Amino acid sequence: MQGVGFRPFVYNLAAELGFAGWVLNSSSGVEIEAVGSDDLLDEFVERLMSEAPPLARIECISATTVPISDIEIPEPGRFVIRHSESQPGEFLPISPDVAICDDCLRELFDPIDRRYRYPFINCTNCGPRFTIIRDIPYDRPKTTMAPFVMCAACQAEYDDPTDRRFHAQPNACPVCGPRVWLQLPGRQSPISTGEDAIRAVRELLAEGKTVAVKGLGGFHLACDATNDAAVALLRERKGRVDKPFAIMSFDWEMVESYCEVNDDERTLLTSCERPIVLLRRRPSSPISSLVAPGNNYLGVMLPYTPLHYLLLEPSTLSCSLDIVHCSSPLALVMTSGNYSEEPVAIDNDEALERLRNLADAFLLHDRDIHARCDDSVTRIFAGVELPIRRSRGYAPYPVHLPLDVKQVLGVGAELKNTFCLTRDRYAFLSQHIGDMENYETLQFFEQMVEQLKRTFRIEPEIIAYDLHPGYLSSKYARDNPTSCILHPVQHHHAHIASVMAEAGLIGERPVIGVAFDGTGYGTDRAIWGGEFLVADYASFRRAAHLKYVPLPGGDAAIRRPYRTALAHLWAADMAWDEELRPVAAASAEEQSVLVQQLDRSVGAVPTSSVGRLFDAVSALAGVCQEINYEAQAAIELEMLVEGDVQEAYPFGLNGEEIDPAPCIRAVVADVRAGVRAGVISARFHNGLAQMVRDVCLHLREETGLQEVALSGGVFQNVTLLARMLPLLEQVGFTVYTHRLVPPNDACISLGQAVVASARA
Ligand code: ZN
Ligand code: ZN
Ligand code: FE
Repeated sequence: MQGVGFRPFVYNLAAELGFAGWVLNSSSGVEIEAVGSDDLLDEFVERLMSEAPPLARIECISATTVPISDIEIPEPGRFVIRHSESQPGEFLPISPDVAICDDCLRELFDPIDRRYRYPFINCTNCGPRFTIIRDIPYDRPKTTMAPFVMCAACQAEYDDPTDRRFHAQPNACPVCGPRVWLQLPGRQSPISTGEDAIRAVRELLAEGKTVAVKGLGGFHLACDATNDAAVALLRERKGRVDKPFAIMSFDWEMVESYCEVNDDERTLLTSCERPIVLLRRRPSSPISSLVAPGNNYLGVMLPYTPLHYLLLEPSTLSCSLDIVHCSSPLALVMTSGNYSEEPVAIDNDEALERLRNLADAFLLHDRDIHARCDDSVTRIFAGVELPIRRSRGYAPYPVHLPLDVKQVLGVGAELKNTFCLTRDRYAFLSQHIGDMENYETLQFFEQMVEQLKRTFRIEPEIIAYDLHPGYLSSKYARDNPTSCILHPVQHHHAHIASVMAEAGLIGERPVIGVAFDGTGYGTDRAIWGGEFLVADYASFRRAAHLKYVPLPGGDAAIRRPYRTALAHLWAADMAWDEELRPVAAASAEEQSVLVQQLDRSVGAVPTSSVGRLFDAVSALAGVCQEINYEAQAAIELEMLVEGDVQEAYPFGLNGEEIDPAPCIRAVVADVRAGVRAGVISARFHNGLAQMVRDVCLHLREETGLQEVALSGGVFQNVTLLARMLPLLEQVGFTVYTHRLVPPNDACISLGQAVVASARA
């Protein structure tokens, strides 16, 4: 990758071993020719692997011996870094943004360092990359650091191959680099700058105020996460009722005081990607319950920029100096700086305008953000990472594909959109684009498509898109003026292809694909979402699915799970008994409209969605009747699950159709018997897990296939995974789940691209 300090590392190692020769970056990787004794050359190859700089990712090293006469030595007796001339079509991956490294962190808090308390410390091993790059090759003039001219001291570091800042493009110091300042909404000029601004922000946060903080890939809205009133006010202003907020603490020890953190989770929290990690909260946690209502987990991250460290630094660190601080909160809410649904703000003026009613103050700086990039969200399941949102720290690092693919643009789905560009054996997935439901998000999508095409020198021959006629991403594909071949890909086929690709399957035989989600457009125009596919990359067969239930009012039912529950009761031939919570939630008038829609099947879309089945069970169990964020009813049902429950609700297995009616009847019987929601939740999760095992066994008898691939938003539910995986493995299946890209619709673009490439 560009800008990760690999060539200087090679240079220094070769110099240490006394080699003559050269190193060069090329599109096929790094090329080295070195002259030395066999022993030392062996040591060299070994140390290339073991001592590589933190951001370098070595896929493989191949070494051959050549006669000394064939080696070109630019400078006799010396080792040199050769300048690469870029060839047409050549590209090198660019690095994601990475968290401040330990060396820079030490300098940040070292009173005798010239960058002491400087909020933009970085080096070759850390700092901004993807978000500041305007174009490649990655050189300072092509980044948003271009306006800052390095001072003599910075330039000397930049030019010295033995320095940690050799060719560190964002290199800067308090003399020559970017600055921070504090500004109030509606005011033109800063009220304080530098250290004073940071201190003022800490005071405002301690008083319960909300501050918009410009970060790496966008703005955050920050407030004290232990202050109920502050969090409540932020929710009200942002129009976000229950959807969890992410929080940030100074270090993992602090996190451990309010969440359980195991070794794998700590590794992830402290990794240079610094994602938001979902952690189980401790019952006595001082974090406001309004941060994540109805959720047993908190989304927590550690600081990843020097500025974050200065904001969260415990007061004790500076006590020896004349810098006086008020103490910092245990954790700050750090939620994206936007109104719900809009892309996060990145530009100072834009933020001052768009966030003026959300924030009490603005902590701004003058290093521009070129590419917006939201925080990533991830968790640990069974010792491995299960991504929820793959963005900052990960994008645009490619996913490696097990087979060569054509140049394809997969435009993704609608919610949690990402797009994907492929070439050779790489799939470059974009950062999180967001919910493609408005013009601003579409605009962001279009800008990033153009930028990443340029960056990776990809001219797609094919554009792959979702069958759903209403998706903005599909409209973008159909309206595009180029001569690309347009290739529609069914949503759940894309889900399964995506998990196959990241698992490295070459697709020589199909898998049993289990795709469970909320919504995906089917080839029969129904809304699918409880699908068993026999699929490879090029094709799929819908081998089994949840029996259709009409969804009255479509989107209205999604926002009001009680309506979906009524539809499931209707489909199971059960009366709408007023004692059932979802029935009580619907007015008499609403009920009579619903009955007509259902009986005459007008205004009702048939669906096989497992997401909707979760909604129905959640409503019947009395957990959630209306939602204000996606999958809320399912999440709240999962959170209540009780551990020691063995029983499982039955499903009707009948050829290709899996009937949920027996499950619905059993839920209602339990509700009438006064069974706790947590027990109902457990029996439902168990029932789904057993149903999946039974259907897979049946499909194995039919096809002989041994491999099962799981994808779709429902598989973010770790309670379900924890019950389903052992059942499948006990009967001898090999099971593939997502580890690199999220199981939700963020993975669709990858699946679309590999399917379209395989078919074309
Ligand atoms: Zn560093
Ligand atoms: Zn400087
Ligand atoms: Fe989906």
